[in-house]
Amino acid sequence: MKEVLLVEDEPGLVLTMADRLRSEGYAVSTALDGDDGFRKASSETYDIILLDVMLPRKSGFDVCRELRDQGVATPILMLTARSQTIDKVQGLKLGADDYLTKPFEMPELLARVEALLRRQASSSAPVAATYEFGDVRVDVRCTEVQRGGQPISLSAREFQLLCYFLEHPGATVSRQELLNEVWGHRSVQSTRTVDVHVAWLRQKLESDPKHPKYITTIHGLGYKFQPTAG
Ligand code: CA
Repeated sequence: MKEVLLVEDEPGLVLTMADRLRSEGYAVSTALDGDDGFRKASSETYDIILLDVMLPRKSGFDVCRELRDQGVATPILMLTARSQTIDKVQGLKLGADDYLTKPFEMPELLARVEALLRRQASSSAPVAATYEFGDVRVDVRCTEVQRGGQPISLSAREFQLLCYFLEHPGATVSRQELLNEVWGHRSVQSTRTVDVHVAWLRQKLESDPKHPKYITTIHGLGYKFQPTAG
């Protein structure tokens, strides 16, 4: 049984989330403030941590950073308020794995949790901290991308998509696989979403996005990332 630590201070939300997670077969522990959340997360072992940003005693950002400083590598899904657009970037930089904006529907939460747990399972092979192809340099830990020495701004999803390509060089990956692995298999997005994000990545990373070198289209099958194409 997968163990979830839910760090959230709104009692109603704690109840709703914990009930739903338990009904899906998860074991759920809860903490109502940042101090308690940090204490539990650093002393017990969980499969995933759901971490609110706005918490009494210690913010979710501080909890996240301190856990990573202590070497706790448990996947963290940050829960942010809609107004806190800066949160996602900040959260990812501090070592969170994904974020979910409140208010959210329970199926969306479950999909994110499943995606993170699956990613965790498939990434037991050590992942390189940095990748280089052409004039692009990707620092996975710092979620930083540079091209020709200049920083490039990617959305969280674009970054996750790029990471999936980096981890599967030379493989033909279907749109459905990308949707499952990057968006989560309960995602309601269509494969068209994948095409749109690939197009955005090409715009940012390819010198001639209309004739991409690195992320090529394999007609009828999907995409292939070829880091040595340059
Ligand atoms: Ca809160």
